Amino acid sequence: MRNQRNLAATWRRELGRRLFAAHDAQAHANGWQVTPIRGGLGRRYRDPRFDSLARCPDCAGTGGLAEAPCQPCSGSGRVVLQPSLEGRRTR
Ligand SMILES: [Zn+2]
Repeated sequence: MRNQRNLAATWRRELGRRLFAAHDAQAHANGWQVTPIRGGLGRRYRDPRFDSLARCPDCAGTGGLAEAPCQPCSGSGRVVLQPSLEGRRTR
């Protein structure tokens, strides 16, 4: 019984690996994080650059008004953290 479950899990991972091979390769080429989900039959792709985005402290993320957009964030409500402020992340 346990061997059957292990075998099924192995097949799911292998099937997922084959199904998502092209997407995984493109994601890795883009520098995205790839996380297998649903026992390997699904994927979650994430761009780690999202980690460097933060809410603009000047407008609290509102971006200001359309006629007067916030200057520091150019009206986007988000700022990109500088590498020196990101902490001790290593890649
Ligand atoms: Zn702002």
